[in-house]
Amino acid sequence: MTEKLYYKNAYSKEIEAEVVAVSGSSIILDKTIFYPEGGGQPGDSGWFNGIRIIDTQKGEDEVPLHILEKGSAVPEVGTKGKLILDWDHRYFYMQEHSAQHLVSALLFSMHGIGTVAVHQGTDGFTIETNAEDIPDEVLFSVEDAASKAIIEGHRIWQDEMEHSDAEALHMRRSIKVEGRVKIVHIEGIDEVACGGVHVSNTHEIGEIAYTGKERIRSHVRTMWKCGNIARDFHRQNMDIVHALSALFSAESKDIAKEAERVIAEGSEMKRNIRKLEEHIASLELDKALCDAPVFLLSDIPVSAYDGILPEEYTYPILVADTAGRLLFYGDGDLFSKLRSELQIKGGGRNGIFHGSFAGPAADFLAAAKEVISGNA
Ligand SMILES: [Zn+2]
Repeated sequence: MTEKLYYKNAYSKEIEAEVVAVSGSSIILDKTIFYPEGGGQPGDSGWFNGIRIIDTQKGEDEVPLHILEKGSAVPEVGTKGKLILDWDHRYFYMQEHSAQHLVSALLFSMHGIGTVAVHQGTDGFTIETNAEDIPDEVLFSVEDAASKAIIEGHRIWQDEMEHSDAEALHMRRSIKVEGRVKIVHIEGIDEVACGGVHVSNTHEIGEIAYTGKERIRSHVRTMWKCGNIARDFHRQNMDIVHALSALFSAESKDIAKEAERVIAEGSEMKRNIRKLEEHIASLELDKALCDAPVFLLSDIPVSAYDGILPEEYTYPILVADTAGRLLFYGDGDLFSKLRSELQIKGGGRNGIFHGSFAGPAADFLAAAKEVISGNA
């Protein structure tokens, strides 16, 4: 059995340890400071005797398995050496995990909103709640209260007690483990059963930011960032606002309105261009319909011809545009022949076919003319 030192001192970054078992490319040590993935918190990484440990997972009987990087020489049982934690990685998750406790506690104590599931990631953490809807004002009030608790500096500690004693605390979340229970306390704010690792004071969380919400399984999932990534989030947003402000020549408070106006203007322009294209298409087609069959090279997209084809099919009409797209109006067998002989991609029905071709449009039309006249 491995001695789990991360529960004795979550701040221990380096220890001497001995390999007591090997399982594939994982090693089991007599003692460890590496936390195995659990409770929404990722497993630790680091080094043993200079060999990279990429992850830590729970093995049989919850024994931490230190997973070595692929291709590493696996140390033999009895090997002693230095176990070094990737501290930046670990400390960030301690901050995040503690921030999640704080936010979950405040959601519950201030608004009666329960936590259903949590997830920690490098880009922030999420709390899936039991609420069907949560107004932003409610989440802002929790963000404010969490910031206040960070500034005040509340002690965070973990202890262990009998299941019945833990039950008697009537905590906000039901206890999911058997036997003795680890309880995490945030002084004056929260008590909850948790086997994770945490910072020792709320001020170590540094900063907290509510970053959004989404609906999942008819519940609201809230999104948060803490520590350095909360700070980076604010800075990135500032950069985005400055860039958009310059692009739209608008003050930050007017960017959305200005963007809406520019997008509407663009849509209106597209509609007008489409009308003009259809007008040009009908003029070109009128002129071309004097000769049969019609081979038309067009500067405007072939899609502009879709709505203006003659109602009665009289002879094949082939329009090719300079972007390599074609419109064929005619007999399906004839289109199949064109497709196989000229390597056209595309298809259609009811006598109208769309497709694309390679090479210059004029060459394509000349080749198509030969195929069609040979068929006539
Ligand atoms: Zn925890």
